[in-house]
Amino acid sequence: MPSAGPRAFRTSRAFLVRSMDAGETDRRLSFFTEAEGLVPMVAKAARRSRKRFGGVLQKYFLLDVSWTEAPARMAVLGSAAILESFWEIVADWERVRYADYLLELSAALFPQPGPKPKAFEMLLAGMRSLSLGEAAAASGRKAEAAFLAMGGWGPNLASCRACGRPAARSLRQAGVVPGKTGGAAFRFLPSEGGILCADCSGKAGIPLSLGAVKTWRALQSSSPAVVGRVRITDTILDELCMVIPKYIEYNLGRPLRSLGGHPSFRKG
Ligand SMILES: [Zn+2]
Repeated sequence: MPSAGPRAFRTSRAFLVRSMDAGETDRRLSFFTEAEGLVPMVAKAARRSRKRFGGVLQKYFLLDVSWTEAPARMAVLGSAAILESFWEIVADWERVRYADYLLELSAALFPQPGPKPKAFEMLLAGMRSLSLGEAAAASGRKAEAAFLAMGGWGPNLASCRACGRPAARSLRQAGVVPGKTGGAAFRFLPSEGGILCADCSGKAGIPLSLGAVKTWRALQSSSPAVVGRVRITDTILDELCMVIPKYIEYNLGRPLRSLGGHPSFRKG
């Protein structure tokens, strides 16, 4: 039945996040769009006629989608076209896992409607680097840190939460050579969203070296270009793999499915 209310026609670049069958002929989809954030839609006749949307309704494509909105009704997908393919992702299971994770993460961290240009740009950069073969865990940590900063959850990594000493100075006073510590100069407390220095930490929190603290700070830049250029050493990547996903889980209050429970939360 056509709606009596005003209809709005919208278009945006988008990634498909979720897709499930609905009834005999339709599919229910969730897109993460640049213009409107997360948008649930129905694709009419997508199951009955393969020609209706071709093979376009897949993850790992940057899509150009159009849809119509009417009050109190689910948006209806009008068209979808591929702008850029990241299909190389499917060649490697670890890349698939992380690509799914980035999609799930953007939807989980930015569920409110409205324009999401920065988050979308970071998601696009993450998908691109996964398809180009960057280490999956590194792409994951870069996107996580940038998303957290954009969402206002970026931890304060500049100084100790308890004594306030700047991170770099507290190490020099302790006579520790940055980069050669090999151990925990700091501890990260998810509940505090910050670090404690060795003097203040005791046994609480997750250990982090100065290098890891500095790298995480660099990844909090809001520019995907800057984040993309940050090089993460294997040792620091191991440390960040133990801390950033846990902090995300803490903020969301639940684990995310794409990576959760797998023994190699770590490197890809
Ligand atoms: Zn301290």
